[in-house]
Amino acid sequence: MSERASRRYRAPTDGSFEVDKAETAPPKRSPKKQALVERLATLKGELGELQERLYAQDRYSLLLIFQAMDAAGKDGTIRAVMSGVNPAGCQVYSFKQPSAEELDHDFLWRATKALPERGRIGIFNRSYYEEVLVVRVHPELLDRQRLPIEPKLKRLWKDRYRSIVELERHLVRNGTVVVKFWLHVSNEEQRRRFLARLSDPEKNWKFSPGDVAERAYWDDYMAAYEDAIAATSRDDAPWYVIPADDKTYMRVAVSEVIVDVLRGLDLAYPVVPESDRKQFAALEQALQAEERER
Ligand code: ATP
Ligand code: MG
Repeated sequence: MSERASRRYRAPTDGSFEVDKAETAPPKRSPKKQALVERLATLKGELGELQERLYAQDRYSLLLIFQAMDAAGKDGTIRAVMSGVNPAGCQVYSFKQPSAEELDHDFLWRATKALPERGRIGIFNRSYYEEVLVVRVHPELLDRQRLPIEPKLKRLWKDRYRSIVELERHLVRNGTVVVKFWLHVSNEEQRRRFLARLSDPEKNWKFSPGDVAERAYWDDYMAAYEDAIAATSRDDAPWYVIPADDKTYMRVAVSEVIVDVLRGLDLAYPVVPESDRKQFAALEQALQAEERER
């Protein structure tokens, strides 16, 4: 992965994204598994250091959004990528079907409550994008949302894209760096992973019969992803489309992007002002004197 990851995987930001042009398999000249595992370990260390600075500087926060079809490997990627960072500076929020309380608010409400504080990394495992993905594929879900006017559907998705773009722009202006990942798995690889979940007793718990039913809507989901990514990939909040058929490759790619983005922020430890430094010197002397008196 010589070319900078943040450029290589970035979806076009001019509305021209097409699913058919996005890879699900790693490139043919991808490094071997062992090399990828080693690279992942290096990236983990770098991410840990960058996060410490993000936290100390307390100026930016980082919002990582993960969207994917079932079994694409969101959970494992989040675990692998974040295993090197201090848990105190990091939070993961998983968005499930909305509760009654959440349905009584606008569609962005529950996500804005879960945004990371300054200095922290916040991870959304699914997000408000579900509102233009699963809800678009199953528009009957809108019935529970009790919208004030019977919406014309085409208009509704457009309005939602606009709300999302404006929210993200607002966040960026206020110091939240927004990075969005689509872990792009192929239909065939999903089938294999479902089969593995069915045949291996230790993986049975990951399987839910509803996931297989959702597979029947594959093409609708691809169309919804294409539209959503084209409409919301912007220079200030781009989408990164990551080939997800090989889990190790995917984890390296995601880590490369995050490290790249954080490096671009010129994160630095706060510098102690001159006046404080004099006081620090005096305190240092006092502490050293304590030892001599013992
Ligand atoms: P796992 O890998 O554990 O299955 P998951 O993210 O699929 O993780 P589930 O509890 O299986 O978690 O699924 C959450 C479900 O909630 C998904 O099917 C998702 O589409 C749905 N969901 C999330 N947000 C919304 C929303 N705003 N409206 C309707 N459904 C939603
Ligand atoms: Mg699921």
